[in-house]
Amino acid sequence: MVVMFAISTPAEADWLADARPMMGTEISVMLWHDDALEGQRLIEQVFAEAKRIDLLMSTYIDDSRISDVNRRAADEPVVAGDELFRLIQRSLDISVLTRGAFDITYESIGQHYDFRNRERPDRATVDASRELIDYRLVRLDQATGTVSFAAAGVRINLGGIAKGYVVERGIDILRMAGVQNGIVTAGGDSRLLGDRRGAPWMVGIRDPRVDGAVAMTLPLANEAISTSGDYERYFEEDGVRYHHIISPSTGEPASGVHSATVIGPDAVLTDALSTSVFVMGVDEGLLLIATLPDYESIVIDDQGRIYYSDGLQRPDP
Ligand code: ADP
Ligand code: MG
Repeated sequence: MVVMFAISTPAEADWLADARPMMGTEISVMLWHDDALEGQRLIEQVFAEAKRIDLLMSTYIDDSRISDVNRRAADEPVVAGDELFRLIQRSLDISVLTRGAFDITYESIGQHYDFRNRERPDRATVDASRELIDYRLVRLDQATGTVSFAAAGVRINLGGIAKGYVVERGIDILRMAGVQNGIVTAGGDSRLLGDRRGAPWMVGIRDPRVDGAVAMTLPLANEAISTSGDYERYFEEDGVRYHHIISPSTGEPASGVHSATVIGPDAVLTDALSTSVFVMGVDEGLLLIATLPDYESIVIDDQGRIYYSDGLQRPDP
């Protein structure tokens, strides 16, 4: 929805919002601006930035930089360009932090899934490719800005972190332009700039099994929030749900959790951590979050039970 005043009337302060299908999901921007035309221009700038990042980082685009890396990096070092290099570096750091739960080389097996066409890798393919899921096979050379893979068949995919990056970049654009209240959302990742002008934003966490329903609503300001769920991309076969979050240790979709939400200051990290907590499960995931001072988590397990990290629990009376 776009809220705009006629060009001939003096611009007035108001909420402006627009949404667009992009990156296999929807990107939406909402902001408060005292000049509707300028506000609308900023919204377009956020969409353009998302498009730019997608063209660089999407494995679904044949001539993206990351597709070039995937095609050639097992044979020779490939120049990644600063921005992609830095996000890969960050991804590898998060692999260390999460003891391998977050691993962009999940794509070594992930590439064999096609959720729309209900295709998944057979057992032999999973067995043959499992050892190619290992972030230590990705080598970065700072001096030359290149990426190389230590084994043939390794693939990387930034799907677990790129939407958070888009959200951060989008909020940067708004903040640089002086916007004080806004939201940028890409799929399950949002960053809130300021509050809703005097009140917190009310952010809903989806019920992972009831379409359109909300499991809970949180009042938030100035935070990023990401949810990873097994309902985003999946198909079912013989009662098994094959979804898009892969456990690097098994090479199969992670089980035990229906959704993992992470709240914190940086959308790049909340995005990667929500995927990580999903993979790690309730106990290990919440233990990790407890070590990160500014981050909290809400996990819904496969029985529908809801778990909160320590910082969200009501203190005992
Ligand atoms: P969504 O918002 O789409 O639910 P997430 O932030 O959880 O998603 O990211 C899921 C995406 O992360 C998958 O579609 C895939 O691209 C990527 N991914 C899957 N498993 C892993 C993993 N173990 N580590 C890093 N990225 C992963
Ligand atoms: Mg994520």
